[in-house]
This record gives sequence, structure tokens and C-alpha cells, in this order.
Amino acid sequence: MPTETAAPSNDELSPDAAVRLYVDAAARAVALEEDVADVLGSSYREVSVQVPLRRDDGSLLVAHGYRVQHNGARGPYKGGLRYHPEADLDEVRALASLMTWKTALLDLPFGGAKGGLQVDPRQLSEGELQTLTRKFALSLSHVLGVYRDIPAPDVNTNAQVMAWFMDAYSGRHGYSPAAVTGKPVDLGGAPGREAATGRGLVYVLEAAARRWSWDLAGRRVVIQGFGNVGSWAARELVTLGARIIAVSDVGGGIFNDNGLDVERVVEAVAAGGSVADADVGYTKVSNEELLTLDCDILVPAALGGCITAGNAADIRASVVVEGANHPVTPAADDVLADRGIRVLPDILANGGGVTGSYFEWTQNIQQFQWKEDRFNAELRDRLDRAVNEVAAYAEEHACTYRLAAYSIALERVARAVRLRGYV
Ligand code: NAD
Repeated sequence: MPTETAAPSNDELSPDAAVRLYVDAAARAVALEEDVADVLGSSYREVSVQVPLRRDDGSLLVAHGYRVQHNGARGPYKGGLRYHPEADLDEVRALASLMTWKTALLDLPFGGAKGGLQVDPRQLSEGELQTLTRKFALSLSHVLGVYRDIPAPDVNTNAQVMAWFMDAYSGRHGYSPAAVTGKPVDLGGAPGREAATGRGLVYVLEAAARRWSWDLAGRRVVIQGFGNVGSWAARELVTLGARIIAVSDVGGGIFNDNGLDVERVVEAVAAGGSVADADVGYTKVSNEELLTLDCDILVPAALGGCITAGNAADIRASVVVEGANHPVTPAADDVLADRGIRVLPDILANGGGVTGSYFEWTQNIQQFQWKEDRFNAELRDRLDRAVNEVAAYAEEHACTYRLAAYSIALERVARAVRLRGYV
């Protein structure tokens, strides 16, 4: 049986407590007033719902779901929906807060939200998944909407799930494609959105590499998680001449020092199953081993809390690019910083996803579809800008990119909170 290793092992803090630590450090760095800090220190709204499902075999599954809206000073709430057995309120709260900082850092007119449904979709039939998604959409629909809160895909959800979600929402409120992003292109999805998080991660890395005078060609890359983010990042990195030497998913990993044939792995996974089961003749590695392989660039792109105080000293990459949300615990972050390992933080590195969602939302509102090359050019432009702002701030204040990114975001949200008269 595969071992699930991306969950926190020996670390100390819950996801929400960990994200708070990063926010608190930035609040001190920008000397945030206490009253604004009080507003930003908790969620605006937290909805918890029960979603009962009569399964195909007649048994009853009672799933629990959450939608947390952290802060909406800069615009409608925005954030993904995650289906995972461990998607609890604490983690969804942390992820909602990350979305507030991410949308501010990317200078998008959104606030931060996140949703989670405590279920393992791999255990459900397609019909069960559809029914559960429609019920979840209806149970949250009173707090959602085009100008209120706009969900998107995240772990274990995809364009099809967003299509069902949008259809259920539209059934109650009238046709509302802009109420959900990450939809199939046939239903108002934006060409480019599906790849935008992984591709955007590579745009971020390219922009950072330019500042460091670092050449990406020939770099050895390890990627944990081969879903939407990890697989698209791998494909994009290959086009730059980087060598993907190992990838993994929940079922385990594969390694080849000469580089994997990424397209073959993508095809094998598309046919169903894990990268570890793909009959591609590579050496098998566990998820623990994968994280500490000798490489130039490590991309955690699965779940949070996989780089901890327990393994940070063994990381052999020079750069960690956070495709996943909160993959590095605060204790591990200190170790990586002390060791001179650069970290491109989640709110910057995976910001291509919500930026792509912003493009989809605006296109839906305007009822006008961009071509994919325009989407990608605008994506690169916005991400380049964000990287340059973060790098300049980090250079000026001699701090990590994470502290710089949070500081910029916090100042922007704080300005909106004051201008709205919330404090
Ligand atoms: P996904 O469901 O498409 O893929 C997740 C991948 O992680 C799969 O390959 C899965 O097998 C693997 N995985 C799950 N549990 C694992 C474990 N315990 N050990 C190793 N691998 C494991 O999800 P995704 O959309 O690619 O999201 C991945 C990460 O990126 C998440 O942290 C998510 O919050 C973040 N993210 C996603 C988006 C997006 O647009 N999809 C945007 C920003 C951030």
C-alpha cells in the first residue's frame, strides 16, 4: 500500500497556526497597527455544512464541508475547493488566509477564501461525486456569487467538478458562469486556465532565475505531486531544457538521474493509476526519499506540511518552489533559510492559478474569450511584476522572499481595510 507522507510528521503547529506565524512576522516587519491586525487575524465568515449522500450500494455517507471567507476588503472572496479526507476547518481557514495574501500580492481585485469537503473522491463513483458536488454547491450557494465568492479547483477537484458546481449554482440563481472558475473551456472556461498554476510556477521561477543570473537549462528538478500543478510544471520546465529527475504522487515516486520522459509519465497517469505504477522502467522511490534527492530545484506540489524540522536539514536542492500551499513548516523554513536554500513562497509561486482564474472571471463577465497566447502573455506579465516586487523588497530589507511577499500583501490589504472604514 502507498504511504501518505505529505502530511506533517513531527511538526508542532496546525496549518492555521503556521500561516499565522508567517503573517505575524510580516505584521511586525511593516509595523501593522493593532486594530488592523485584529481584523486580519480572524476570518470574516466560516460556514460549516453537512452533505449527506445516499451511495450506490444504499449506504449513507455524511460528508462535512466548509467554506471560509477570510477577508474581502479588496474584492469578492476567491479560492479553491478541496476534496480530501483531512480537509478540516483549521486547514481550510489557513488556506483561506493564504488566498487573501496571494490575491493581494498578485494585485488582483479579490479577497481570500477556501472550501473543503471531507471526503476521498477516489472511493466514489462518478455519479456519487456529481451528486455530492451538486449538494455541496447548493448548501453553500447563499454565500457564493459572481461578486461575492467565486470557487475554483484545488486538490482532487477539476474542471468537471467545477462544471457540476456551476450548473447547480446556476439552477438556483440563473446562468452564472462567472460564479466559478476552472471550468471546462466548453462551458466558459478560459483556454490556458487548466495549465496556469503549473505554468505560472515556471514563469515565477524564470523571473526569479533572471534576477539571480541563474540558467534553468540543464537543472535537475524533483517534483512531489503529479496532479494539475506538478504535471504542468514538469511539462513547462522540460520546454526550458530542465531535467525532471523524479516525480511522485500519493502512490509513490519514480526516479531516473538522466531525466524522466515526462510526456510518457503524463500519458501513463492519464490512463489511470499512480506514477509509481506507470510501466516506464524507472527506479521507484518513496515520497520521503524523493524530497531529499540530490537536485537543483525541488517543487513540492502535493499537500501542506511535507518539509518539516525533521527533514529540512536533509533537503539537497538549492531552490524550493512551493507549488503546494504551505508545504514548508515555519520551523523548516528557518532551517532552509539558515542553510542558504532559496524558497519561492506559495503565495507567489502558485499564484498563476488565481491569476488565471481572474482572467477567466473577467472574460465571463465580458462574455468575450481570449486566445490562449494572450492568456499566457498576461499571466507572465503579472507574475514577472510580482516576482520583481518581491525580489526588490527582499533586497532592500535583507529578508527572505516569504517575508517580503507577506509584507507587500499585508500592506495592500491593510490599506483596503482602512479605506473601507472597517477599523
Ligand atoms: P491535484 O489533486 O490535481 O494533484 C495532487 C497531487 O498530489 C496528486 O498527484 C496526488 O496523488 C498527490 N498527492 C496527494 N497526497 C499525497 C501525498 N500524501 N504524498 C504525495 N503526493 C500526494 O491537486 P493540485 O490542484 O495539483 O494541487 C496541488 C497543490 O497545489 C495543493 O497544495 C493545492 O492547494 C495547490 N494549488 C493548486 C492550484 C490549482 O489551480 N489547482 C492553485 C494554487 C495552489
